Amino acid sequence: MSYQLVVVGGGPGGYAAAFLAADLGLSVALVDPEPNPGGVCVYRGCIPSKALLHVANLVTEAKHSSAWGIDFGAPKIDLDKLRGFKNDVVKRLTNGTGQLAKFRKVQYIRGMAELLDPHSLKVRKIDGGDETIQFDHAILATGSVPAIPPMLKVEDPRVMDSTAALELPDIPKSLLVVGGGYIGLELGSVYAALGSAVTVVEMTPGLLPGADRDLVDVLARSITKTMKNVWLNTRVVQMKAGPSGIRVTLEGEGVKGGSPEQVFDRVLVAVGRRPNSKIPGLERTRVAVNERGFIVVDEQMRTDEPSIFAIGDIVGEPMLAHKASHEGRVAVEVIAGENVAFEARAIPAVVFTDPELAWAGLTEAQAEKNGRKVVVSKFPWGASGRAITLDRVDGLTKLILDPETERILGVGLVGAGAGELIAEGVLAIEMGANATDLKLSIHPHPTLTETMMESAEVFFGQATHVYRPRR
Ligand code: NAD
Repeated sequence: MSYQLVVVGGGPGGYAAAFLAADLGLSVALVDPEPNPGGVCVYRGCIPSKALLHVANLVTEAKHSSAWGIDFGAPKIDLDKLRGFKNDVVKRLTNGTGQLAKFRKVQYIRGMAELLDPHSLKVRKIDGGDETIQFDHAILATGSVPAIPPMLKVEDPRVMDSTAALELPDIPKSLLVVGGGYIGLELGSVYAALGSAVTVVEMTPGLLPGADRDLVDVLARSITKTMKNVWLNTRVVQMKAGPSGIRVTLEGEGVKGGSPEQVFDRVLVAVGRRPNSKIPGLERTRVAVNERGFIVVDEQMRTDEPSIFAIGDIVGEPMLAHKASHEGRVAVEVIAGENVAFEARAIPAVVFTDPELAWAGLTEAQAEKNGRKVVVSKFPWGASGRAITLDRVDGLTKLILDPETERILGVGLVGAGAGELIAEGVLAIEMGANATDLKLSIHPHPTLTETMMESAEVFFGQATHVYRPRR
């Protein structure tokens, strides 16, 4: 068969690209081993983890509600049912993407692709047999896999990566989470809410190394209450499976004064992901891979091989689904002859912990590192009527502004629902809004969105709910 476009990899990058290409009238094939489009994000990443986090938040909220005079008692957890709920969420979404592919006449081929040359590939099909496909263009969107350093590689089902942890094999009495990043904190929160005593070890001096510290501090205050231990500047030096659990030797701040040897029922290793760029047959093309394993592309998502484009986790960080989708759509528009490029001013990042943490555009840390002069304008959620009604004053909204133009360069948020609120920041940054634009946009009362408006008012020293003596 011959197609104008073949997309290899059916995650949010690949399927967004395939769907848009079909909408633009191209003949399209999408190759992926899973039963339907969805990729890691939908099958074993963003989506199942968010279903579990929703439940975890409910458990936490129900516990907290005794402070408001409502006591639900201890939760009774039916793990099979919970797993079923999570699996149903995945099934519903992936059935949907499968239907959408059919409606658009995207040929979905279940299998693994091997490039034969710059215009053809072979698919080893899941249900047997091979199919050779000719293409005018291909988009590589094969994503990423958990990076497990050799020292943390233990062949024992009690040592889990994120995929295994999402299967909820049981609720271990004790869980060690190696890595205080996105996955460690999100999945660690799920297990903690379900009743595990969770210890997080992070080798750097702080959780979520890429995020601004004032935001992380708010999250850390809450995390240290829900987790048994959060140990910074601590690393695992040895890990061995034994009959009574996983014996772990730790080194660093966390175990100072204590025993460096600890035993855990289970371990979750979440120390980052690596690009899945070892695509068979890639060497038969001019596609270049850099020293970190990322496929080299330009701002139009072109590789060094004119017929082949690449998008998503395989082309670089941040490894986020929404970045991949956007890049996929750019690649398709370029293939369709449009003069476009990936030039997002803001790629939002959200950590779905409780409270959530989100940021977009320039961070304060990046500004500092680059020596860029900025003004940071903060609104604490203790002054937000809506946050008080929710009993969720554990939040902060901040704007990072250019002192000359008053342009909004970055937005940082921590608090309940921060992941939803950040979208307004993205729009503001993309549209080149300044503090006055945000200040003059009437925000609904009482909502958490007002914290965005009021942080712009803080910039002018005129926030209704923050008193600053006149200078
Ligand atoms: P991460 O990069 O977010 O965090 C890994 C953490 O592990 C870092 O803090 C790092 O310092 C630490 N670390 C590394 N080696 C260590 C060691 N030996 N001992 C202790 N700590 C160690 O990686 P992740 O949590 O595995 O997630 C991978 C990627 O997946 C993320 O970077 C993100 O791009 C994506 N992701 C996004 C979301 C989301 O958008 N909400 C959720 C999950 C994953």
